[in-house]
Amino acid sequence: MLRVEGIQKSFEDFKAVSGADLTVEKGQLVAVIGPNGAGKTTLFNLITGQLKPDSGKIIFNDENIGKLPPYEICRKGIARSFQIANIFPRLTVFRNVHVSVLSQQGKSTRLFRPAQTLAVEETNRILENAGLSDKAEDTAGSLAHGDQRTLEIAIALGNKPQLLVLDEPTAGMSPEETTATMELIKRLADSQGLTILFCEHDMEVVFNVAQSIMVMHQGVTIIQGGPDAVRNSSRVQECYLGGA
Ligand code: ADP
Ligand code: MG
Repeated sequence: MLRVEGIQKSFEDFKAVSGADLTVEKGQLVAVIGPNGAGKTTLFNLITGQLKPDSGKIIFNDENIGKLPPYEICRKGIARSFQIANIFPRLTVFRNVHVSVLSQQGKSTRLFRPAQTLAVEETNRILENAGLSDKAEDTAGSLAHGDQRTLEIAIALGNKPQLLVLDEPTAGMSPEETTATMELIKRLADSQGLTILFCEHDMEVVFNVAQSIMVMHQGVTIIQGGPDAVRNSSRVQECYLGGA
């Protein structure tokens, strides 16, 4: 579904991403891990069009999307969440997701006016899936941090993505919130067949859920493989143990 080849991105003279490769198969749950500053967020910004690559390819469904603006990439089926939650804090939880569902329908239905009820049903379904139904009428800004991050995932789901890209979905969460969020991500991948790419700075969090793990270090891909291959890689151990 997604293939990133030799992607590079510099800020002034600093190479934030200097040769990253990544493959995401349809239906897979893929994690990108690496220490702070490894280039994970920059890589995700390149994939979703917030940044343009200096060189390299980003192929999504056989099309090079490396030069497209974010809204076109979103339209092609990639939705994302950010490392810092992006929600409408003064709107209700329901309305946050409803707006996203309506904008998705607006771009997909031309002949038949989308029935409001359809959008409401779809919104309720997403809230149910995300475990936010009982908070639907709460103001988004009043939610606990973990629920705000979950809401952001729900907003992304409103876009009916083929590929969901999550930047540190558990950042700043309590251990309980982290467990619940990882379960939600796993459920979305398993029961809905959604393809999910996420990044994490905590290695342990990902090993239980990810089918494929890509390790980044100083802007470069060290390895991509299954959990066992990654765990046993001496290069990975060097990166995490400081190369001693
Ligand atoms: P990660 O998400 O893995 O922690 P980032 O992709 O955020 O890493 O950052 C990679 C490196 O690029 C860091 O050293 C960071 O300081 C630098 N960087 C990121 N964005 C910018 C920017 N807009 N301008 C300058 N340097 C940046
Ligand atoms: Mg980051």
